[in-house]
Amino acid sequence: MRTLIKGGTIVNADATTRADVLVDGETIAMIGTDLQAGADRTVDATGKWVIPGAIDVHTHMELPFGGTFAKDTFETGTRAAAFGGTTTIVDFAVQTRGESLRQGLDRWHEKADGKACIDYGFHMIISDVRDDVLSEMDTLVDEGVTTFKLFTAYPGVFFSDDGAIFRAMQQSAKNGGLIMMHAENGLAIDVVAAQNAAAGNTDPYYHGVSRSPVMEGEATNRVIRLAEVAGAPVYIVHLSARDALNEVRRARDEGLPAFAETCPQYLFLSLEDMGNGFEGAKFVCSPPLRPADHQEDLWLGLLKDDLQVVSTDHCPFDFHGQKDLGKGDFRKVPNGLPGVENRVDLLHHGGVATGRLTPTRWVEVISAAPARMFGLPQKGAVAVGLDADLVVYDPQRTHTISASTHHMNVDYSCYEGWEVTGGSDVVLSRGKIIVDGDEWLGKTGDGRFLKRLRSPYLK
Ligand SMILES: [Zn+2]
Repeated sequence: MRTLIKGGTIVNADATTRADVLVDGETIAMIGTDLQAGADRTVDATGKWVIPGAIDVHTHMELPFGGTFAKDTFETGTRAAAFGGTTTIVDFAVQTRGESLRQGLDRWHEKADGKACIDYGFHMIISDVRDDVLSEMDTLVDEGVTTFKLFTAYPGVFFSDDGAIFRAMQQSAKNGGLIMMHAENGLAIDVVAAQNAAAGNTDPYYHGVSRSPVMEGEATNRVIRLAEVAGAPVYIVHLSARDALNEVRRARDEGLPAFAETCPQYLFLSLEDMGNGFEGAKFVCSPPLRPADHQEDLWLGLLKDDLQVVSTDHCPFDFHGQKDLGKGDFRKVPNGLPGVENRVDLLHHGGVATGRLTPTRWVEVISAAPARMFGLPQKGAVAVGLDADLVVYDPQRTHTISASTHHMNVDYSCYEGWEVTGGSDVVLSRGKIIVDGDEWLGKTGDGRFLKRLRSPYLK
């Protein structure tokens, strides 16, 4: 099958070019002006952009949390991603305490195999750093699971102490893997949260105020310094606060291989959204939403490359039946927000349409940088020879975000009623049109597991 995408403007991270794109089979075969090559079908991209499919390196499909599971499966979550212009996800497989990495990874392969609609890779969450686990890390890196997430938050569940984190970093310095850190001081946060709950401050809003941004800044600096001594790069996930950004910037100014992502919720939503009684549970995630004045700092961080990636931390729980586990105690609200479908459009709307980000920088943070940093050389650009993961994007089209029309399997949207500028018209995954307007043409199980390389971006 040959598909010709005609008349569009290719937006890559490094350049914008008026050219046609010929797709042959699963790959991009030719790029040029007025291509006359014979094709089985033609997609008219006049007035539109042709961008590399977006890559979301932070999702949690079916994550077990607080006695329930994130609602999107690999089937529903990857279909929703595709409607939003995302053609690759990297999800977090989970090692629970006492088990091997292999057991956790096998469980995630079972969840995804035959279900994913787009290509996917895995990171590995390490909850239990033991000698045998350290040597398993080497095996996983060789198998294409090259990145590992550890936590300074969630004592008793995912938490690792500084010694454990340091050992994992030393191991990654040897095997070429990358440690990703959830950096908040979980031990101190739990003290404040318990004090708030005991004082009768049980509304979701207190989830936000219990987790001071100072405690994110502190933990971010701590893990950066551990990595410095271990001689390893470090990547801060879901950076939410100015305090943490300042630490990342300081480290980068010193020449350290410190990297960070932020997420749309921290760029667009704020602590105020967590007010309004139990409605605030819709916005409970960790780190929490911050006072609105942090947002401009994060946008500036994206502009100046102190933040390299925007991912979603997609982890949806229904408001009715899941979030309400925390009625009467904010500590029992499952942590997480839906977002995998909205990232590309929100970043276009708030970044490109407002003039904060150039179209090329937008493509960099949603696709090209994730591909480079996470070892996916076949993705992240519109270039001959790469996978034909392509989006025909309409930068002018407006649409309204709503739970009544979104494709994520969750009963609310954090952006209900927001009118945004920009939308994906046609989405191709390895050469196959999987989304055409409102129509789903993809197939469950067509997504392939991606063995990822050690990251060349970090060296
Ligand atoms: Zn996460």
